[in-house]
Amino acid sequence: MKRTLTTCPYCGTGCTFYLLGDDQGRLVGVDPSTSHPASRGSLCVKGWNAHGFVQHPDRLTTPLIRRGGRLEEASWDEALELVAGRLKDLALRHGPDALMFLASAKASNEENYLLMKLARAVFSTNNVDHCARLCHSSTVTGLAETFGSGAMTNSIACIDEADLILVTGSNTTEQHPLIGARILQAVRRGAKLIVADNRRIRLAPFADLHLRHRNGSDVALFNGLMHVIIREGLEDRHFINSRTENFAALKEAVADWTPQKAAGITGLAPGQIVDAARLFAAADKAMLVYSMGITQHSHGVDNVRAIANLALLTGNLGRPGTGVNPLRGQNNVQGACDMGALPNLLTGYQKVSDKATRESFARAWGLPCLPRAPGAMATHAMDQAAAGKMKGFFIMGENPMLSDPDQAHVRQALESLEFLVVQDIFLTQTAELADVVLPAACYAEKEGTFTSTERRVQRVRKAIEPPGKARADWEILCEIATRAGYPGMDYPGPAEIMDEIAALTPIYRGIDYRRIDDLGLQWPCPDESHPGTAILHAERCTRGPGHFSPTGYRPPAELPDDDFPLVLTTGRTYFHWHTGTMTRRTHLLDREERFSFVEIHPEDARRLGVHEREEVLVASRRGEIRARARVTEMVVPGVIFMPFHFAEGAANVLTNNVLDPEAGIPEYKVCAARIRKAP
Ligand code: SF4
Repeated sequence: MKRTLTTCPYCGTGCTFYLLGDDQGRLVGVDPSTSHPASRGSLCVKGWNAHGFVQHPDRLTTPLIRRGGRLEEASWDEALELVAGRLKDLALRHGPDALMFLASAKASNEENYLLMKLARAVFSTNNVDHCARLCHSSTVTGLAETFGSGAMTNSIACIDEADLILVTGSNTTEQHPLIGARILQAVRRGAKLIVADNRRIRLAPFADLHLRHRNGSDVALFNGLMHVIIREGLEDRHFINSRTENFAALKEAVADWTPQKAAGITGLAPGQIVDAARLFAAADKAMLVYSMGITQHSHGVDNVRAIANLALLTGNLGRPGTGVNPLRGQNNVQGACDMGALPNLLTGYQKVSDKATRESFARAWGLPCLPRAPGAMATHAMDQAAAGKMKGFFIMGENPMLSDPDQAHVRQALESLEFLVVQDIFLTQTAELADVVLPAACYAEKEGTFTSTERRVQRVRKAIEPPGKARADWEILCEIATRAGYPGMDYPGPAEIMDEIAALTPIYRGIDYRRIDDLGLQWPCPDESHPGTAILHAERCTRGPGHFSPTGYRPPAELPDDDFPLVLTTGRTYFHWHTGTMTRRTHLLDREERFSFVEIHPEDARRLGVHEREEVLVASRRGEIRARARVTEMVVPGVIFMPFHFAEGAANVLTNNVLDPEAGIPEYKVCAARIRKAP
């Protein structure tokens, strides 16, 4: 049995395991790594089955080119010449900003770095983005403003030291199962738990307080908590005086957020808000854990600001067992952000608008200059494509046809393009629309690194050869750059790409393959002797003083009315991942959860005459889909929940593409909907 140590391709927890291969070159199983600080010898069901999709017969094995309306097999030479030539031609005819490059939170750091280099150095545009726009762009914006860094402040192991954990907008046991398990272990040893979530998630029965506040009322809840803490003198005066600024503005902003006012908006009882505030403030070490239930709103940045304000107010920052901990969804969404696959940032969150930064990248890349204006966000680029202004998209390992809100709009946008390239491991719903499809190697077939949610940069190692003619994303990107006439993307391998990243990126400067060979390193790691950083903002915040950013309450953009009387919210399930391209091709996972479903409260089900497992039609202003009813008290009356993994019964046909004005993130978590029995 060949054993290859690598990193899980699913969630951002970043568990490591050995891929087990037989002497025929087949992957036959997975064996967890016992020494890893996050996984500690355990895996969740997705990790145990992470070999399952790798050798699926649906894998793309050869380039495809659209001819006469059909995708036909082609040689690499033909496909690469066509891609380089058409992208150059579009940039010449319409200007570089008529192109959009979507990087991938599933691909490695090295590949995301190369995609953003391809956009900026070869095609002279900052139009590069990835799915963090859809999940944690609010975090990047909100925490950069308050602390100076948009990443998880603490480490996963810090859960073991917390006296209290407040989990909000994160179905942790299903989305980040080993982090969820660690929270349950903390509760067992005596830590307090507050769950602020409208759904009765699996953590809820173990919570000291379960706050089922209305969807989209998070700012009201947190302002109410802070009002009580200040009113009762429970804030951390020493921390506020020595480590923060702008406290007076926060105090004034929450002065009228009495428990009664907050209760009126959240739907909670005033006493629940008072109890939660006292419980939180009483803890010596309180940890805030959140995810997309907080970020995916038209006021997502305000939600993040409110959470950061609570941490600053109570001095819960920079110590073990504390902090603001956004759990990043995909295996490498943290890394894709770190690598500058964002329209306004280069690697390590260095601003495109900064002249000295641009000049140092231009020098390193052998160019006279780099484009100065920040590029288009992915969500705006889709609107521009639909309006006929964006002409070419290069999409690496993303599936916006399922993952973006309002799918009719996405289809119209992608069909309006003059040229669409998709580089992926399966023929996704997006790849089906492409002019050229480039077959990529998956995580088990290449070398590289992923960065987990706790900022840990870890090795990904090649266990088997890619199928057919599929090639690693980094190799394909280098070929395109070379054929487009740029000589600066020629590397012996991913290790040398990481050396270039480290040289250009202060927070990665001390990282190389030799040093991360064993357990990885957590950034910031500023030099070769630095041991990595487990806890951010220990002495001072990255930006200097922690900045209180008061927030006002804004309701969700679309609320229920007579035509659409229910609130639809969306999320993931334990057995599937994202758009299901990998988990739905893994027999044991697909067997457990085969159909799109909608959770509906028994009261609503009774009123509508809907029964358990019955097929229903779920509609919003944007479309209608079929799903099976799951009648459950997981949701409160008036709210329905759907997972977004299923192409048949796709929840994102229904979701609202209204955006947060600062982060450009769509409001996936609240829209108005209705249900009727399927004919
Ligand atoms: Fe993979 Fe996340 Fe499960 Fe760990 S918790 S095995 S990283 S999916």
